[in-house]
Amino acid sequence: SEEMLIKSEKLSVVGQLAAGVAHEIRNPLTSLIGFLNLIKHGKEMNREVLEVMTSELHRIELILSELLVLAKPQEITYKHKNIHNIFKDVLTLIEIQATQNNVKIQLDIEEKVPFIDCDENQLKQVFINLLKNAIEAMPSGGNIIISVKMNEDEKVFISIQDDGCGMNEEEVCKLGEPFFTSKEEGTGLGFMLSEKMIHNHKGSIHIHSIKNVGTSVDIILPLTQDLNT
Ligand code: ADP
Ligand code: MG
Repeated sequence: SEEMLIKSEKLSVVGQLAAGVAHEIRNPLTSLIGFLNLIKHGKEMNREVLEVMTSELHRIELILSELLVLAKPQEITYKHKNIHNIFKDVLTLIEIQATQNNVKIQLDIEEKVPFIDCDENQLKQVFINLLKNAIEAMPSGGNIIISVKMNEDEKVFISIQDDGCGMNEEEVCKLGEPFFTSKEEGTGLGFMLSEKMIHNHKGSIHIHSIKNVGTSVDIILPLTQDLNT
């Protein structure tokens, strides 16, 4: 039954993303249809309009291909991946929800932390879960700062900071227990799953939070994995 729960949470994360994506692609699609109708009726298209149409289509394509990667069944496969690219893909996916909620996301990433052994899909899922929590903690908007750097013992240090509602000590303790949620439509599984996926990578995850001030979720990941285990 644990597997069932994991499956349903995965669906809900993807499902909620899909709702955002559907909303986001409807506008460009409507205007693309409009442009095509004009062409059909003999209107001449200028280069600028064609560029706009092309870039709208590329954006839709990118979002959909990312969603498909996330929707694939998960088995752990460690690969040598550029962490900067992972965050770029994650930001592409979460941007829609952030913008809709008046949230600005800043990515501070050190030049010298490019590659890490990881299961890219799992890490993306983790960062999306944590960024969603950060956005949902700021119902009237705010700022998220993602910082990625190397720490002294050659591990990657990632922090996701928000200036949202924060948690008291009791709530921080409960975070990670299955079904602990303060949200009407929450599952209370996202953090637990994220923690599990970080532990799969032999990493650790720590919460620092102050009620009504904000939260910082800190993740430490080793650069390499024993690829035989
Ligand atoms: P869900 O998001 O479905 O509620 P999670 O496991 O992701 O489940 O989070 C559990 C609870 O932890 C949330 O409902 C919220 O109360 C609290 N929480 C998680 N992240 C944050 C955050 N960044 N700021 C404030 N509260 C948070
Ligand atoms: Mg959540």
